[in-house]
Amino acid sequence: MFRVTQYMRELALAQSHGHYPAPRRHVPAGAERGPDSSSPVGRQAAMGQRLSGPVVIWNLIRRCNLTCKHCYAQSADHDYAGELSTPEVFGVMDDLRDFGVPVLILSGGEPLLRPDIFEIAHRAKAMGFYTSLSTNGTMIDTTLADRIAEVDFDYVGISLDGLRETHDKFRRLQGAFDRSLAALRLLNARGIKTGLRFTMTALNAHDFPALLDLMRTERVQKFYFSHLNYAGRGNTHRGKDAQHLATREAMDLLFDRAWAAACDGLDEEFVTGNNDADGPYLLQWLARRHPELAQRFGADVRTRLVAWGGNSSGVQVANIDNLGHVHPDTMWWHHDLGCVRDRPFSTIWQDTSDPLMAGLKARPRNVGGRCATCQDFDICGGNTRVRAQQLYGDPWAEDPGCYLADEEIGCVSTPTSRSVAMKRRIIPLEVHDV
Ligand code: SF4
Repeated sequence: MFRVTQYMRELALAQSHGHYPAPRRHVPAGAERGPDSSSPVGRQAAMGQRLSGPVVIWNLIRRCNLTCKHCYAQSADHDYAGELSTPEVFGVMDDLRDFGVPVLILSGGEPLLRPDIFEIAHRAKAMGFYTSLSTNGTMIDTTLADRIAEVDFDYVGISLDGLRETHDKFRRLQGAFDRSLAALRLLNARGIKTGLRFTMTALNAHDFPALLDLMRTERVQKFYFSHLNYAGRGNTHRGKDAQHLATREAMDLLFDRAWAAACDGLDEEFVTGNNDADGPYLLQWLARRHPELAQRFGADVRTRLVAWGGNSSGVQVANIDNLGHVHPDTMWWHHDLGCVRDRPFSTIWQDTSDPLMAGLKARPRNVGGRCATCQDFDICGGNTRVRAQQLYGDPWAEDPGCYLADEEIGCVSTPTSRSVAMKRRIIPLEVHDV
């Protein structure tokens, strides 16, 4: 995840104070508001102990009341056999707590369909996890909104794929947009931090500016922009690729909004996911839009971006699916690292006998192609490995989803990568943020 607002706020501070602010100590999302020393996770943070575990996105249930076009879990409205029982979930939570996992993102399918979801969520909060709910929002009425408020979820993210017509088409349900919007309002009225999650495709890009407006009018605190997890066309005509051009325009707009919000001191947060080239692109946006600021503070921004380091799948982000299988993140459901029924998550996560996990945890990652010669590799980290694996059959090839041109990042294209045409389209993902 790329926290656009963090950099914009630092830059706004630099502009007003004349010097770049000191780096913030890295604080996991769950401890951002100050550690709660009454909880185990909070006590760890308060004592300065490193919260070593990753953010865990947990698909607790595969069942969903919708059948969205782009669902990576390919969920349907029926029960799936073999899902983790409540005691099993609790056992995993104990391990996650002991391992220093700071954040649980409870997801699905539709997590609100799980009968014990509130039991799990109350326990997660009591254990001190930053607890987030990832829902389509269509089931949230007054009663459920009250129950969500009782849990005191730290954050609730609701997906919108566009305005009414577009969203309902994506979700294959007339009225889905109105129900999700009603849910946002019910949650906002109860003081719960909410976010809009938007995955851009060629079919909904036209609604993106209006969704940003909606965020403002509905007083939603967070906007999560997820890049379509799309393989692109290798390295052919990268600069002219329609998908890449649309991405650049979208990023320009998002950065403009985030910058304006930071300068106005608004409590609005903008983040992106699924394309770590956003980091280098932020530097280019800065040079184009605000050349004077770029000249004064560009090096500071770059240093901060390098400290972020780009893609963190398999390191700071983890996924557990509905059957208890562990994956480097939600894009890697086809790669099973082991099941929490057989080994604790903490053991699975530290086991680098799996070549993929060894490679993901390597610093720097041993990535080839244009990424290997990219001047901004230290910012981006080589981006999203699953796209390379899906397109080239090699998880350590260059990321075909990078939308930056060779000349922008001073890299050299190899004949091999040029010759690779798109073989398949990777399904876009339901997105998760904290
Ligand atoms: S070429 Fe590779 S390392 Fe450089 S910005 Fe693109 S994806 Fe990141």
